Amino acid sequence: MLLRLPTSVSEARECLAEGAVPVGGATLVWATWQRDGFPELAMSLCRLPEANVIGPDSLGAAVLLGRIDGRVPDVLRLAAATVGTGAVRRTATVGGNLVGSALRCLLPAALVLDARATVLESDGLHETDLAEVIAKRPVLIALRWRVPVACAYRKLPADAGGPPPLVAASALHSGDGAGDVVRVAVRDGYDVLVGAAVRDADPEETLRSLRATALGDLPAAAWTVVRPQVLALPARER
Ligand SMILES: Cc1cc2nc3c(=O)[nH]c(=O)nc-3n(C[C@H](O)[C@H](O)[C@H](O)COP(=O)(O)OP(=O)(O)OC[C@H]3O[C@@H](n4cnc5c(N)ncnc54)[C@H](O)[C@@H]3O)c2cc1C
Repeated sequence: MLLRLPTSVSEARECLAEGAVPVGGATLVWATWQRDGFPELAMSLCRLPEANVIGPDSLGAAVLLGRIDGRVPDVLRLAAATVGTGAVRRTATVGGNLVGSALRCLLPAALVLDARATVLESDGLHETDLAEVIAKRPVLIALRWRVPVACAYRKLPADAGGPPPLVAASALHSGDGAGDVVRVAVRDGYDVLVGAAVRDADPEETLRSLRATALGDLPAAAWTVVRPQVLALPARER
């Protein structure tokens, strides 16, 4: 296997045109490659500046989960901090988690930030939404979002060998005069449900509006996690 390390978008495009398979930390693919055979050509984005951004409104796909710190909103920092073990987080990347992993602990966090994805295609960089990233698995370069007013993340403890633990993420976004918006995403099993509602002066009304979205399908146990998280959001306002 030849591993290419593009340092510019045009080099990355060339790799893509040559059929290079994207690889992050290989925490997931290594075992599969050893079993089924290595691809002829792979590309790591670890030297591509656009894939290594980390800040209050952006996160590159090549960033290692263990490097995600207080520069990004808390919801993403906490999501990254709960993935696997320290050894996994020192090697695994944002791109591998969002595109390659079945668990995708970062996905609920990215969804409540209403993140947009920058992806690489044969003709260059494009912006798309997370649903398309999950469905089509393009080469993810980075995520961008509007900085939230407040956000929160909780992952329930997992039973070894059991089903994936519930993850609840939420964020409050300024509506710039049009009413603030609360976004909530929940991973229940392997499904991720997301909903948004305009924040009402009465928090119970906000919760009622959220229940009228896809989140209404969540079991009662999930709401025992979502409800206090949404009610506590205003106290987390920056
Ligand atoms: C012990 C263990 C515990 C774990 N626990 C959790 C957990 O609690 N929560 C959780 O969410 N995950 C968990 N995982 C999964 C973990 O998140 C993934 O292993 C990791 O995120 C994959 O990242 P990677 O960079 O190593 O990907 P790789 O193994 O390099 O790649 C995985 C797949 O993603 C593709 N890919 C990589 N980068 C990109 C990109 N930029 N664009 C498009 N495709 C790309 C690759 O082509 C490949 O198909 C765990 C894994 C292990 C081994």
